[in-house]
Order: sequence, then structure tokens, then C-alpha cells
Amino acid sequence: EAKKDRRASIKMFQPPMLFSRQLHNQMAAELRDAIAAGEFTLYYQPVVELATGRIRGAEVLVRWNHPERGMVMPDEFIPLAEETGLIIDLGRWIMRTAVLAFARWRTVIPLEDDFRLRVNLSVAELQRIDLVDYVREVLRDSRIDPAQLVLEITETALVTGGDVETYSLLSLKSLGVDIEIDDFGTGYSSISYLRTLPVSMVKVDRSILAGTNGDISRNEFIAAVLQLIRAAGLEAVFEGIETKEQVDRLLAMGCTSGQGYYFSRPVPESELLELLGNSVSLPAPA
Ligand code: C2E
Ligand code: MG
Ligand code: MG
Ligand code: MG
Repeated sequence: EAKKDRRASIKMFQPPMLFSRQLHNQMAAELRDAIAAGEFTLYYQPVVELATGRIRGAEVLVRWNHPERGMVMPDEFIPLAEETGLIIDLGRWIMRTAVLAFARWRTVIPLEDDFRLRVNLSVAELQRIDLVDYVREVLRDSRIDPAQLVLEITETALVTGGDVETYSLLSLKSLGVDIEIDDFGTGYSSISYLRTLPVSMVKVDRSILAGTNGDISRNEFIAAVLQLIRAAGLEAVFEGIETKEQVDRLLAMGCTSGQGYYFSRPVPESELLELLGNSVSLPAPA
């Protein structure tokens, strides 16, 4: 009963109250309960080979299946989870659930060896000295090839990185997993600095690609970003691909992989398995 009242009261508060300490604490408590109650679910968005539409991997994207509010998107609770430290428990659940799911898929469908599971990591997770032990444990329990796991870390998290973050990156790398810089192009970081980090891939933020159709200067900008990543010896993945024009442009620039609504939205596990099992190639340029 008390729980119901609390939730009802949350809905009555409008923006002026939004950041009150009390509401913050209520939401944090609700998030904590939700983790204990297992109210989270994982969606998967295919990462494809642009030229063929062949699925080369999937990014794990968490959703909160809220009993009253329905599906809550990560932008609405990940920041709070980070602020309260709850991201540690949530992140562990995400990593374990996703990697074990992946291990299961491999027993029911023939996945190509270059298929890679991509899991997002928050900076708070990277700051934990025991992160690497946990990842090692999940790899051992799932018996997946570490090379098939990619950890996505936002550019801003990497730029502010201290000793523990660097230790985590190097240790993860030595486990055999790959690190990808996520949301590249939003953090004002210098590529020469990023080059010093043990990363092998760069995911270009969708804002770089957005609104590009027919805009020549924007195309030159994208080409320059791609050049920069290549010159640093890193592999580029473009996110937020929504149109065929964008695919064609990226292909013309020599970009090989990406993800976006044009190919597939993030889908529940059952739908991903259908896409993979039917070896359905997602739309690719004719
Ligand atoms: P992200 O890692 O950059 O993930 C990409 C986001 O772009 C996803 O939003 C995805 O649904 C969306 N997206 C993909 N293709 C398109 C497209 O063609 N057009 C547009 N407009 N959007 C597209 P989502 O699922 O809402 O996730 C938002 C962010 O929340 C993620 O950004 C990531 O930073 C964070 N997040 C999601 N899942 C996790 C998680 O398991 N752990 C952590 N730490 N963060 C997560
Ligand atoms: Mg990501
Ligand atoms: Mg991203
Ligand atoms: Mg993002």
C-alpha cells in the first residue's frame, strides 16, 4: 500500500519539484527495488556489415519494464543509477544476463565467428577495481571467446579517466575483450589522446550523421571524422543510420559497419534470434 502511495505521489510532482532531495531518494529507492524485483529487460540492436546487411553483432540495450509506467528507456534511469551507485548492481546483472544469453544463442543457431556482443559500460563501473574480476568470472561461466565481447565506453568517460580507469582498460584488454569508444564526436577529445588508450574501435555518435542527406559540407565532415579514426589505426562503426542515402554515403566513403533504425531497431531476444536464425539479411543497398 505504502508503495502504491509513493508512486502516485511521484506522478503529481511537476518539474519545479523534480530535483528535490526527497523525490530523488524516492526514485532511487524505486530503482533499487526494481533491481531486486528483476524488472529490467534487455533489447538487442544488430550491428551490420553495411555492404551486405549481414548481422555482425548486437548491442545490448537495457530497458526498465516498469509495472505501472511501462517500458522506461535507459536515458531516464541510467543517470540516476550512475549517481546512486546502483549502476554497479544493474551493470553486473546486464553483463551476466547478456553474455549468458549469447552463450545460449550459440548452442541453437550457427553464429559466425566474427559475431560480437557489445555491452555498454558506465564510467562508475570502470572505476571499480574489481570490474575485471567480474568480467573474467562471467567469461569463465559462459565459456564464450573473450574476443567476441566488446565493451562500449563513452568518450567523455575515457577522457576524464584516472588511474583506476586506465588499470581497468588495460586489464580488460589483457583478458582479450575489445574496448570501443562510444558516442565519439560529443566529447571534444583529441584523437592523439585516444590513441594512447587500449581501444580498438570507435563508434561515431549519431549526431555526426544526423541530417546529412544532401548536405555536402556535412559529408566532408563525416569523411574527415572517418579519416581521423582510420589514421589512428582504429575501426569505425557509425550509429544512428536511418536512411538508405546515409548507407550509400558511408559505403562510398569506405565505411564498413554500422547500426541504426534503417537496418533494425533494438529488439527483444526472441526477435533477434529470429533475425539470426532465419539468417535474414537486413536491408542493404541494392
Ligand atoms: P548508446 O550506447 O549510444 O546506444 C545507442 C542509442 O541510440 C540507443 O538508445 C539506440 O536505441 C539508439 N539508436 C539506435 N539506432 C538509432 C537510429 O537509427 N536513430 C536514433 N534516433 N536512435 C538510434 P537507447 O537504447 O535509448 O540507449 C540510450 C543510451 O543509454 C545508450 O546510448 C547508453 O549510453 C545507455 N545505455 C543503454 N543500455 C545501457 C546499459 O546496458 N548499460 C549502460 N551503462 N548504459 C546503457
Ligand atoms: Mg553504446
Ligand atoms: Mg553510442
Ligand atoms: Mg549514447
